[in-house]
Formats: sequence, structure tokens, C-alpha cells
Amino acid sequence: MGSRRECTRILGLEGYRVEQLEWEAESSRARIRIWIERRGIRGYQCSGCGRRTWRLRDAKVRTWEDLPWAAHRVTLVYAQRRVRCRTCGIRTERVGFADGHARITRRLRQLIGLDCQSMPTSHAAVRHGVSWSKARRAEKAFLTDWDQARPRRRPRHLGADEIHRGKRQKFYTVLSDLVHGEVMGLAPERTEESLAGLLTTCLDARQRAAVEAVCTDMHRPYANAVAQALPQATIVYDKFHVLQHAGAALDEVRRPEFFRAGPVMRQFGRGKRWLLLRRWNTVRGSKRAELCALFAANRRLFKAYILREHVDQLWTYKTRNGVATCLWNWLKALRWQRLPEMEKLGDTLVTHFDGIAAFCDHPVRFGVVESLNTTIKGVIRRGRGMKDETMLLLKLKWATARPIRSSKDLAKFLYSDVHSNR
Ligand SMILES: [Zn+2]
Repeated sequence: MGSRRECTRILGLEGYRVEQLEWEAESSRARIRIWIERRGIRGYQCSGCGRRTWRLRDAKVRTWEDLPWAAHRVTLVYAQRRVRCRTCGIRTERVGFADGHARITRRLRQLIGLDCQSMPTSHAAVRHGVSWSKARRAEKAFLTDWDQARPRRRPRHLGADEIHRGKRQKFYTVLSDLVHGEVMGLAPERTEESLAGLLTTCLDARQRAAVEAVCTDMHRPYANAVAQALPQATIVYDKFHVLQHAGAALDEVRRPEFFRAGPVMRQFGRGKRWLLLRRWNTVRGSKRAELCALFAANRRLFKAYILREHVDQLWTYKTRNGVATCLWNWLKALRWQRLPEMEKLGDTLVTHFDGIAAFCDHPVRFGVVESLNTTIKGVIRRGRGMKDETMLLLKLKWATARPIRSSKDLAKFLYSDVHSNR
């Protein structure tokens, strides 16, 4: 056994020295219990207010899991004092190497939390020799710390969207920062209250004042919530949601055509639904020929398809007048076609014209909205659903903010100074 001084140096906890090492068993992978004691102290710190005092009440021996020494797991043992604080009364002493009620040291927590971002919690738990719940708690503390230390940004464009969750609780409302592509908040349900609550709690007054536009789908309660919480912000309707409506209208045209059609036509139309819903420039080769054959057999479908193809031209204009002209031409092409489903779509486009044309003044990045949705669904699926909403939000923030983009970032998380008191 080396000298106690060397052990103290290896352990490397500022303000503590090693008193004694204790092997729990004789095997080559036995756990080491390291008894530590304070050194060079100027009083004990109250865990409530942080003030130092010498007035002690008693001490209780507690243990913390720490980083391993080679193949040996390490448990730190320390007689934690209870102090009589002038303002807080009787409190436990604050220790520099661990969080308040944590049973693992802060540097081990950092490592587990970081591992959990790239492997399942159960694997990280085995890797570091702790239980699953301990690993999960460590992960949560790690993510909370990271989230609180981040600067609060003031995005110009926000996104509000719903995420389908499952059978019992149907939806989540997700608030995101579309400039930086990050999730900002999460609330259950998709009501006016849930979005209004998010806009007031996730954003402070300065952040709210900086918002110029909010990108939402054509869901009425969201528009109301934005008008209420951010009166100066413009609503921009999400292009992909509008196109979804167009696709649904096309599908509505298709359905009766085939129910009404004779056996020959039905032969043509079988299994063509997804082909029909695809955009023309993504269809290639023999599939294109199939689509042409279908259109040759049914002109109504052809017209509806062409109209659907032209909807996304609404977003190619730089001025409101341009958008208005485009929509007018679209409606003109619809006349005398006897396509009630498409006419309904036309009505929708007209009533939501302001939100569609607002894109000219506020070019929101629609691609970010889509990529965020994909990431969110990925996180939920990987966790097989998640009961803890705070944890889910933290996970989403981490996944979308992607704080580790280089080896330097990783090193910052691995070797950051987490031993000091905050
Ligand atoms: Zn105190």
C-alpha cells in the first residue's frame, strides 16, 4: 500500500485527504472503501445557505460511489457533519464533491450522464456498477445542470406543433426555436391553454419581445394562444401541413372514383394510393408510366393531381401580391372542374391566406420544423414512450441542441470542473 499522501493525490478531491483504505473482499475486482476526512478547513458549510460555521451538532457516516481505481469500484466514506446554522437551523454540511442528496460523486454523475446520451440507461448503469434508478437520477441531474448553464437565446422565429403520442394521452404541444433548431418546451394536450402556458413559462419578457413570427399548423387554438401571449408576432402556417391538406383532398377525390368505377378501372387503381400521393418529381421510371396510364384512364384524377402539384408554388413568391395572384390563378383553374373536394381545399387556402402569405415577410425555415419532428419521434420511440415529462423534455433539448459536435466539446463535458461547489 502506498502512502496515504499518494492516495490523497490520486483521489484528487480538493479539501479532502485519505484516512484509510479498506478492501471489501480479497478478489482481484474487490470494492475499495476509502475513508476520507476534511483538511485545511475554515469551518463547515451549511447546505441551506452556504455560510460557514464551526458549530456542530453531530456527524453521520455516509457513502458515495466514485470513479473506479483500475478494476476496483470505489466507495467514499465520510462522516458528514450536521451544523447549527444561524439562519437555517440544523442542516447537513455541504460536501464539494457531490450534489445535495446524491449518493454518487459529481464526477461519476457527469460520466454516467454523458454515457446515457449515447447508450441505453441500463448499459450505462452496468458499465459504472450502479443500479438503473441511480443511473437515471444521475442522467437527470446531468441534463438539468447542462440546461441551466446554457445561455437563454432570443429567437426571432418560434414553432408550435403537436406530436402524436399514443392512445391514452393523445398529443403533446411542442414549442421550438426555429432559428437554432432546438426544442424549448413541452406540454400535454394541444389546447389553447397548453400553448399559452408554454409561451409564458418557457420564455421571459425579453425573449417574448424578440419573437417576430410563430410557425404553426392551421389548428385554431394555437392561433388564439399566440394572439393572446405574443400580440406582436405574426402567424405563419407550416407549408407541410398545408400540403398535407392538399394530399388529403386528392385522396378524397380518388376514393369515390374507384368505388364508382367498373372492374376495368378498379384493376387500374388497385394499390395506387401511395403512388398517387407522391409528388411528380419523386416518381421515376416505370412508376411514372403507371401513373400516366392511371391519368389516361381517369381525367378527374389527373386534374386533381395537377392542382395538388401547384399548391406549393404559393411559397415561391416574394410579395403578398404574388401569392394572391398565384392563389387566384389556382382557383381559376379549378372552375368548371366539378371537384368539390378541391374546392373545399380552395376555401381553406382562401380563409388561411394571411398565414400563408406571411411567409413573404417572415421566411421561416420549414425544413427545421420537419427535422425537429423527426428527432422528437426518434427520441420517444427509442425510449419506448417516456412517463417522466421533465426527463423527456431534457432529452429532447439535448437531442435537438446537439451540444457535442466535436471531440473538443466531448472533452469539455468529460473533464469539466465538476468538483467545485456551485
Ligand atoms: Zn444555513
